[in-house]
Amino acid sequence: MDEKKKEYFHIIRERYCKGCNICVAFCPKQVLVLKNGKVFPERPQLCIGCRACELRCPDFAIEVHLKGEQPEEGRDSDSVDYTLPPEAMHG
Ligand code: SF4
Ligand code: SF4
Repeated sequence: MDEKKKEYFHIIRERYCKGCNICVAFCPKQVLVLKNGKVFPERPQLCIGCRACELRCPDFAIEVHLKGEQPEEGRDSDSVDYTLPPEAMHG
Protein backbone atom coordinates (compact mmCIF):
# COMPACT_ATOMS: atom_id res chain seq x y z
CA MET A 1 0.00 0.00 0.00
CA ASP A 2 1.14 3.48 -0.74
CA GLU A 3 1.82 5.36 2.43
CA LYS A 4 0.79 8.56 0.79
CA LYS A 5 -1.29 9.08 -2.29
CA LYS A 6 0.47 11.05 -4.97
CA GLU A 7 -0.89 14.52 -5.29
CA TYR A 8 -0.76 16.69 -8.35
CA PHE A 9 -1.22 20.33 -8.98
CA HIS A 10 -2.03 22.23 -12.12
CA ILE A 11 -0.49 25.32 -13.60
CA ILE A 12 -3.02 27.22 -15.66
CA ARG A 13 -1.97 29.96 -18.01
CA GLU A 14 -5.23 31.77 -18.27
CA ARG A 15 -3.89 34.06 -20.92
CA TYR A 16 -3.53 31.13 -23.27
CA CYS A 17 -6.58 29.18 -22.33
CA LYS A 18 -9.35 29.74 -24.85
CA GLY A 19 -11.88 27.59 -23.04
CA CYS A 20 -12.05 25.02 -25.83
CA ASN A 21 -13.00 22.28 -23.33
CA ILE A 22 -10.60 19.72 -24.81
CA CYS A 23 -8.76 19.12 -21.56
CA VAL A 24 -12.03 18.91 -19.66
CA ALA A 25 -13.32 16.33 -22.12
CA PHE A 26 -10.16 14.22 -22.07
CA CYS A 27 -9.66 14.17 -18.34
CA PRO A 28 -10.66 10.70 -17.14
CA LYS A 29 -11.28 11.86 -13.61
CA GLN A 30 -13.42 14.96 -14.09
CA VAL A 31 -10.78 17.05 -12.39
CA LEU A 32 -11.25 20.02 -14.66
CA VAL A 33 -14.11 22.36 -15.35
CA LEU A 34 -14.53 25.57 -17.26
CA LYS A 35 -15.16 28.67 -15.22
CA ASN A 36 -15.80 31.96 -16.93
CA GLY A 37 -14.41 30.50 -20.14
CA LYS A 38 -11.15 29.31 -18.58
CA VAL A 39 -10.10 25.91 -17.33
CA PHE A 40 -10.07 25.42 -13.58
CA PRO A 41 -8.89 22.39 -11.57
CA GLU A 42 -12.06 21.90 -9.56
CA ARG A 43 -11.15 18.52 -8.07
CA PRO A 44 -7.33 18.35 -8.00
CA GLN A 45 -7.43 15.60 -5.40
CA LEU A 46 -8.86 13.26 -8.06
CA CYS A 47 -6.02 13.88 -10.51
CA ILE A 48 -4.00 10.78 -11.39
CA GLY A 49 -1.30 12.69 -13.23
CA CYS A 50 -1.98 11.11 -16.60
CA ARG A 51 -1.25 14.48 -18.26
CA ALA A 52 -3.91 13.93 -20.90
CA CYS A 53 -5.00 17.51 -20.32
CA GLU A 54 -1.50 18.87 -20.77
CA LEU A 55 -0.83 16.81 -23.88
CA ARG A 56 -4.16 17.59 -25.52
CA CYS A 57 -4.22 21.30 -24.89
CA PRO A 58 -3.45 22.98 -28.20
CA ASP A 59 -2.32 26.13 -26.46
CA PHE A 60 0.04 24.85 -23.75
CA ALA A 61 -2.25 26.49 -21.25
CA ILE A 62 -2.23 23.72 -18.65
CA GLU A 63 0.54 21.74 -17.00
CA VAL A 64 0.37 18.97 -14.44
CA HIS A 65 3.01 18.50 -11.79
CA LEU A 66 3.54 16.09 -8.97
CA LYS A 67 3.61 17.86 -5.65
CA GLY A 68 7.11 17.93 -4.28
CA GLU A 69 8.50 16.87 -7.64
CA GLN A 70 12.23 17.20 -8.07
CA PRO A 71 13.22 18.46 -11.47
CA GLU A 72 15.24 15.66 -13.04
CA GLU A 73 17.77 16.24 -15.73
CA GLY A 74 16.49 15.12 -19.09
CA ARG A 75 13.21 13.76 -17.82
CA ASP A 76 11.13 16.37 -19.55
CA SER A 77 13.69 17.45 -22.05
CA ASP A 78 11.12 17.58 -24.84
CA SER A 79 8.69 19.74 -22.97
CA VAL A 80 8.67 23.30 -21.87
CA ASP A 81 11.06 24.86 -19.44
CA TYR A 82 8.82 25.51 -16.49
CA THR A 83 11.19 28.05 -15.05
CA LEU A 84 10.52 30.42 -17.92
CA PRO A 85 7.52 32.71 -17.92
CA PRO A 86 5.02 31.78 -20.65
CA GLU A 87 5.88 34.90 -22.58
CA ALA A 88 9.36 33.56 -23.13
CA MET A 89 8.06 30.42 -24.80
CA HIS A 90 5.67 32.10 -27.15
CA GLY A 91 8.10 34.41 -28.76
S1 SF4 B 1 -3.44 14.84 -15.49
FE1 SF4 B 1 -5.09 13.46 -16.17
S2 SF4 B 1 -6.39 13.20 -14.37
FE2 SF4 B 1 -5.10 14.98 -13.98
S3 SF4 B 1 -6.35 16.74 -14.67
FE3 SF4 B 1 -5.05 16.14 -16.39
S4 SF4 B 1 -6.29 14.70 -17.61
FE4 SF4 B 1 -7.23 14.90 -15.56
S1 SF4 C 1 -7.43 22.42 -23.71
FE1 SF4 C 1 -6.14 24.18 -23.19
S2 SF4 C 1 -7.11 25.94 -24.17
FE2 SF4 C 1 -8.63 24.27 -24.11
S3 SF4 C 1 -9.78 24.62 -22.20
FE3 SF4 C 1 -8.09 23.22 -21.71
S4 SF4 C 1 -6.39 24.53 -21.00
FE4 SF4 C 1 -7.88 25.83 -22.06
